Amino acid sequence: MQMLIGGKGEDSGEGTWIDVNDPATGEIIDRVPDGGKGDVGAAVDAAETAFQAWSEKTMRERGLLLVRAAGIVRERHGNLGALLTREQGKPIAEARDEVRGFANILEFYGGISSLPAGDVIRLGKQGDCITVREPLGVCGAIIPWNMPVLIMGWKTGPALLAGNTLVLKPSSSTPLTSLTLASIMEEAGVPPGVLNVVTGSGGKVGEALAAHPSIGKLSFTGSCETGRRVQQVAGTKEVTLELGGSDAMIVMEDADIGKAVEGAVRGRFYNAGQTCTAVKRLFVHEDIYGPFIKKMAERVQGVKVGNGLDPMVTMGPLHNRQQFERIAGLVLDVKELGQGNIVAGGSPSPGSAPEGKGFFFEPTVVTDVSPGSALLSEEVFGPVLPVMTCTDIGSAIASANRTRYGLGASVWTHNIAYVREVFDHVNAGVVWVNRHLTVPPEIPFGGTKESGTGRENGYRAVEGYTKTKTLFLGW
Ligand code: NDP
Repeated sequence: MQMLIGGKGEDSGEGTWIDVNDPATGEIIDRVPDGGKGDVGAAVDAAETAFQAWSEKTMRERGLLLVRAAGIVRERHGNLGALLTREQGKPIAEARDEVRGFANILEFYGGISSLPAGDVIRLGKQGDCITVREPLGVCGAIIPWNMPVLIMGWKTGPALLAGNTLVLKPSSSTPLTSLTLASIMEEAGVPPGVLNVVTGSGGKVGEALAAHPSIGKLSFTGSCETGRRVQQVAGTKEVTLELGGSDAMIVMEDADIGKAVEGAVRGRFYNAGQTCTAVKRLFVHEDIYGPFIKKMAERVQGVKVGNGLDPMVTMGPLHNRQQFERIAGLVLDVKELGQGNIVAGGSPSPGSAPEGKGFFFEPTVVTDVSPGSALLSEEVFGPVLPVMTCTDIGSAIASANRTRYGLGASVWTHNIAYVREVFDHVNAGVVWVNRHLTVPPEIPFGGTKESGTGRENGYRAVEGYTKTKTLFLGW
């Protein structure tokens, strides 16, 4: 049996539970154990016990188990998607895509069965050296609620393929998909103890995991503030931090306006704007600004807000009350302080909190944003898009860089000189051209500045879950 634990530890107290709520209805859909330090210790022990046999399998054997799990996930993507919608809120089509994305990740890593193992270094009369890459041992993962399925895949796929075992802490508000996916891994043949999920609060389970001396590497995705805390608690162990973003999208005068509008709508309102690499600041060249804004405002009217289980809905609720109140407060500031001109949306949707129970907010577009507005300086984790004009590529790049974040950016153009300028001068981990937000498992993903350290995804992520060991042969 896989370790799927929490709540029975001496710290948490028998019978302590966390309710999991549906963000569209407020209904309690399930509950999970509120784990503690003792549960983390038990999970790490189980992972240490499982490590030897798992690491001794060939990479191909481990990869085949990942691919088998991906097959089961694909077969059940309908139900898994519905579970994700119920605990997270996103529209069912997005949820099922995310579940298929998890399968894609396992298949991608499962297909990598022959990474170069190391180097041979010749040292003349001194001898020869051989380096090998070894798994780190037990690794830890802490994941957020916004893309819980995809992000679980980003950490689980490379960590397990490299021969490590893993203890994963899901967000307290989206633990159900993590638990179900871990059961599927077990069903596919991943041995007990290789993937362990411990539910419980960040303060207890998250910190116990970050602090545990047997954890070889910790990978965290979430807010900057919590990331800093995790880094502090983790001490000297290796930590990967995937934190916030304030991605710029730059639309130049030669862009295809229709495609750019679609890109901005998807880039901002996908997952109700709660995506680290969402379009959070849009810069449109002054020559096309008028028609662009007109088309954008019309297009946004077509976004249908509601319960994500309704297949006609294209934007679900915000994930929780805190998110909802934060977004409502930011938009209220724009109105009351005259910080911009709201050209679409701007209010809670009918039936939403505080009168109703869901956390629905209209997709909102703000133009003429004052430079001092929090819409430009903070990571706005919700469906509000500030749009500014730009006059040339140089000033657009300067504006794009005016943030403490550096996750992603995009430029919409057919001019290769603009592409070169943006690629060379925007401080970001990924630059898209004529698209935004797409992160397939093949491409390295991560940020600079306060967006974090380290990269996930791509075949090199497997190396990130290994350490080099050197054999020196003195002849
Ligand atoms: P957090 O960063 O607080 O949570 C992310 C994960 O860390 C969760 O599993 C959480 O557990 C855990 N955690 C919380 N505190 C600690 C701790 N002290 N030590 C170890 N782990 C901890 O994000 P929130 O859910 O609170 O969201 C707050 C804001 O963060 C959002 O409004 C958004 O701006 C940003 N955010 C950004 C994300 C991104 O991808 N860039 C993703 C999510 C949020 P638990 O759920 O139990 O608290």
